[in-house]
Amino acid sequence: MTSQEYMDLTEQYVLHTYNRFPVVFEKGEGVYLTDVDGKEYLDFGAGIAVFALGYGNQAYNDALKAQIDKLIHTSNLFYNEPLPEAAAKLAKASGMDKVFFTNSGTEAIEGALKAARKYAYLKKNAPGKNAAGETSEANYEIIAMEHSFHGRSVGALSVTGNPHYQEAFRPLMGGVSFAKFNDLESVKAQITERTCAIILETVQGEGGIYPAEEDFLRGVRALCDENDILLILDEIQCGMGRTGSWFACQQYGVQPDIMTCAKALGCGVPVGAFLLNEKTARASLVPGDHGTTYGGNPFACAAVSKVFDLFEELHVVEHVQELTPYLEQQLDALAEKYDFLTARRGKGFMQGLLVEGRPVGEIVNRALENGLVVLSAEGNVLRLVPPLVIEKKDIDEMVVRLEASF
Ligand SMILES: *Cc1c(COP(=O)(O)O)cnc(C)c1O
Repeated sequence: MTSQEYMDLTEQYVLHTYNRFPVVFEKGEGVYLTDVDGKEYLDFGAGIAVFALGYGNQAYNDALKAQIDKLIHTSNLFYNEPLPEAAAKLAKASGMDKVFFTNSGTEAIEGALKAARKYAYLKKNAPGKNAAGETSEANYEIIAMEHSFHGRSVGALSVTGNPHYQEAFRPLMGGVSFAKFNDLESVKAQITERTCAIILETVQGEGGIYPAEEDFLRGVRALCDENDILLILDEIQCGMGRTGSWFACQQYGVQPDIMTCAKALGCGVPVGAFLLNEKTARASLVPGDHGTTYGGNPFACAAVSKVFDLFEELHVVEHVQELTPYLEQQLDALAEKYDFLTARRGKGFMQGLLVEGRPVGEIVNRALENGLVVLSAEGNVLRLVPPLVIEKKDIDEMVVRLEASF
């Protein structure tokens, strides 16, 4: 089939929820993708911050193939080998205590919200607290941030601060209010005696690449501690080494009560997780409260486990740290050189260039024509979330192809 035929067939049978770029990718090697016509693209999108190891990593592929031949799925009714290995590695890297594996980031958010609500419920309804047969209304309110993104299911959408995404699907989950990101007073103003959790991305991704300011994140942590509110950090996009530490919050010295993770966690195998600290895990979800048929199956966990091994072997986190100043210099130079690039924001390999006075989509399209995959965010931000294994020469080549697209 020709690429046009693939596109036509896609539009005929696949529900049109994406305006896709007119490219049909066939394979990947390292940090390059190849389309069905043989054209190569330098990939600074990594499947939306997913393919951290680059394409065609042989050790990763071999581990998946080996697990396929052994055992793909058994359900969560039984123990298996890869699950505890993956969970232990993720807990160690994150500093969290308990892991629940999901199939996506959105589901990780759902689980995080349920865990928080159960924790709040037990505060009011622990065994022996109320008269027999009585339940007290729990603290159910959740504070989320404007311009946040947490996913598209009803729960995740309810805490996503983008009215445009929410509009057609009301009524959503109740008890959610929105505060201004990086504005501690605004968060304080939303706290009531019914607040159960505050949820935020350590670095906002879809909302336009906004890192949390240090005072803000520490301030939110302190507010949570003072009021016995749980802090949920969504590290789905900014976690797994992307910002130069295993998880972005570690650079702030802030540990959440609940963390969510996905995207690069399986490097392409669909898997996410929510993680609880000891305090939350002790008084939260128990058998019967939450479940998933696929979540954390042997295949997904073999992927997670291998991703952690390869991150260690290839020193991926250190590599991001070392190369970040160079990437930032190159992007700063572009922002200096071109009037329509008015700012650079970001952390590590999660960078955004603010574009003013021309449509970002046009630049993204031109870049594709020039063999470069870049993404946009929040309408006017050019988003760069490359594989974490890029080298200096890839950054140089990105700059050449991007400039040709201006
Ligand atoms: C992508 C993303 C999600 C949703 O993850 P899916 O795997 O698409 O369900 C949630 N939160 C953040 C910060 C994300 O970037």
